[in-house]
Amino acid sequence: MKAAFRFTALALAAALALAACETAPITGRSRLSPVDDSRLEGQAVALYRQELAQNTLSHDPRTVALVRRVGERIARAAENPPNGLWTAPNFQWEFNVIDKPGTVNAYCLPGGKIAVFTGILPITADEEGLAIVMGHEVAHALMRHHGERMADQAAVGVGGAVLGAVVGAIVGRAAGSTLAGAAVGAGVSGAGSLLLLSFGRNQESEADRVGMILAAHAGYDPRAAVGLWERMRAQSGGRGGPEFLRTHPTESSRIAEIRTHMPEALQYYRGGK
Ligand SMILES: [Zn+2]
Repeated sequence: MKAAFRFTALALAAALALAACETAPITGRSRLSPVDDSRLEGQAVALYRQELAQNTLSHDPRTVALVRRVGERIARAAENPPNGLWTAPNFQWEFNVIDKPGTVNAYCLPGGKIAVFTGILPITADEEGLAIVMGHEVAHALMRHHGERMADQAAVGVGGAVLGAVVGAIVGRAAGSTLAGAAVGAGVSGAGSLLLLSFGRNQESEADRVGMILAAHAGYDPRAAVGLWERMRAQSGGRGGPEFLRTHPTESSRIAEIRTHMPEALQYYRGGK
């Protein structure tokens, strides 16, 4: 037994040693090297198509134009990193609004596939609030957090099939399991469900910080982040935790941290619209 345990421990240590580490751009956070984007984007497209097919898209011209305008501006900001802060992504951007007033959610999958649910719009309130949310979601993709979560899971030796069962859903529990099931059913490996991972606190904090830089660089006042997250927080006291609030706990430390990073974000804000 003891020998077997030692062997397991050695094998685990070797696996961890083999897992490459790197420093995340901008924040300098040390992390496992994310799984290559090229392995995720095909799956992301398939899942995104499913999501769009299974839901009603908003045809309200003002709402759709607003989301596309903010999305395009955040995308251009992501593609033009100031001072080489990050590597410009080569995304095939898409911005869609899903007409679900009861769903408080938004996400950006690897490769730049973005969905905004109409239920989040009363909380984003205005264009700048929406820019903070979309900046945050694009930051997750830009910082390759999906691939990083996949690398984390691989490093602890969890198999792909198990992963689908343990990950939280960004898209929402029901939709997440449907999409994960669809991905597996479509012959995508078990890792397909990884696209619906919930992120860790480190990644949330990093997405807040980088998202504010993105919004500022796109010409939106990053100070809108404080009001946005305060509105999120007020909302979280309500009925049973909408998707976005489940995956984005808004404790007071989050808002305090956002204030700490405000001077940095303001360096990229020129006040223009
Ligand atoms: Zn997030």
